[in-house]
Amino acid sequence: MKKNLHWLSARWFATITPAYAPLITIDARETMRKRRLLSIILLIAFSGLSFTVVMGIITRTEQSQQIQNLVGIGFISLSFWINRRGYLKLAGLCYLLPSFLGLATMVITSSISIPILAFGLWPLLLILPVAAGLILPAWGPLLLALIEDAFWYWFVRYGCQKQVAIYLKRPGDQLMFLYLMSSITFVIALFSAISAWTTKKAVIQADRAVELEQAHHDLSEAYVTIQKQALTDALTGLPNHRAVMDQMEKELDRALRYLRPFSLLFFDADRFKHVNDTFGHGAGDAVLCQIGQQANRMLRGSDTLGRFGGEEFVILLPEADVYEAQVVAERIRVAIAAAPLAQAEVAEGIPMTVSMGIATYPADGYAAQELLQQADEAMYLSKRLGRNQVRTAAESRQSNADPELLMMLQEAERDESLQRSGRSPEQIKQD
Ligand code: GH3
Ligand code: MG
Ligand code: MG
Repeated sequence: MKKNLHWLSARWFATITPAYAPLITIDARETMRKRRLLSIILLIAFSGLSFTVVMGIITRTEQSQQIQNLVGIGFISLSFWINRRGYLKLAGLCYLLPSFLGLATMVITSSISIPILAFGLWPLLLILPVAAGLILPAWGPLLLALIEDAFWYWFVRYGCQKQVAIYLKRPGDQLMFLYLMSSITFVIALFSAISAWTTKKAVIQADRAVELEQAHHDLSEAYVTIQKQALTDALTGLPNHRAVMDQMEKELDRALRYLRPFSLLFFDADRFKHVNDTFGHGAGDAVLCQIGQQANRMLRGSDTLGRFGGEEFVILLPEADVYEAQVVAERIRVAIAAAPLAQAEVAEGIPMTVSMGIATYPADGYAAQELLQQADEAMYLSKRLGRNQVRTAAESRQSNADPELLMMLQEAERDESLQRSGRSPEQIKQD
């Protein structure tokens, strides 16, 4: 007995708290709620019918009546099982139809010889409209209540009038009893109908809200992605020109507010055109990516490396004066020159160097454009002095003020351009 009770309570618990997959929509959540409600209804119906069966044994009711009740219990158990498997509508129908038909036949054949047995069936009668509200539209429970009341009226007035009269002698009491029961059934049906109607509306609205929220979420995600794409260089994944300029404005603001230094590194891959001409654009792209990676390895978390365009990169070094910037720049220059790049694309790798220029706030300028120009000029000086080196804006200004050095540089430049014109990429590669 105890074991059976345990088994029953375990089954019951499993029925009302099923471990389903995460709920997605309000509709799904509402279905779950309805399924739990149906479980409770089924339990009440089960208890009501069991009570009738026990009372039938005690009072020795007709065998056919007992069989009918047992069949009812069978249907309720089947409904339990179907409900537990997740088919709410099927479980509801499996309970509603036999229960309603069973009650109707009992009432029609007046086989309930003792009115007290009718009270055993009373919960069944009451919860039929509630169950109908779970699976039918709002008019379902109302219609069911009307039919039930008609049957009930007929049963009390004519079906087992004699038996009722034993308990309620005065016709006035009988009528009161009738009205009371009919009203209770109808009120319950009304509640069921309202609940079915409002729930449906609420579910539709809530689901629409969920959809809207999802759409809003998708839109915000798309916006973030697009914004990120707009600020990222597609090839290297580094911040692009625009992102670097935005960041530089912020860093300059900060430097100005806290009176802190700020340095800017500008660097350009040396003789990059030859890389493309000799090894192809694909290898050139790989070299650009690896230059970015090498440079990034040498930086602090607060520094920003960006691809400024083509084979030009910019590094923002907050809190760094010109000396610190020189150290960082040297480290990057050496790291890039140390080993050939793009070894996956070209077996022997591609030797690569970069020329760098440094400009520092506030010594070399106050505005972003001014600093960029200074760094660019310093980089240009590195190129003219033979590439693969780091020069500062101060050095660049100095060289401009030195007419002899300027003349030398101009000559070297002219020689180089003469030398390079008319040479094949293979010849240049052998440099
Ligand atoms: P210098 O040392 O004076 O800077 O010589 P350079 O050849 O690097 O300079 P130049 O400005 O003559 O050539 C730059 C080349 O960079 C030309 C262009 O085709 C190439 N380039 C620009 N952007 C990309 C890119 O995204 N991928 C590849 N593979 N090449 C690019
Ligand atoms: Mg270049
Ligand atoms: Mg360039």
